[in-house]
Amino acid sequence: MSRRITEVKGLSKTTLDKARRQIQQIEKRNPHKGQVLVPRKEDPHVKYERLLRQAQNTGRIDGPFRCCTCGSRYLIREDATGCCRPS
Ligand SMILES: [Zn+2]
Repeated sequence: MSRRITEVKGLSKTTLDKARRQIQQIEKRNPHKGQVLVPRKEDPHVKYERLLRQAQNTGRIDGPFRCCTCGSRYLIREDATGCCRPS
């Protein structure tokens, strides 16, 4: 439940009037006045698409060389052979 400004206790009438005028000024300048604002959700696929492109570019997806142990894919054979090899 929202409290109206007239219900604020402990403030003088002058202060409340001043605050009320300031609120009216702000509401007058509100560019969305009278509009129904619908929160816009960010496209959930943006991050997925970005990660997918990155994985394709680095060969993690559809890379021609595959680690024999874990199956991870790489663009370069040396990366695939060195993947699960203990260093
Ligand atoms: Zn591996």
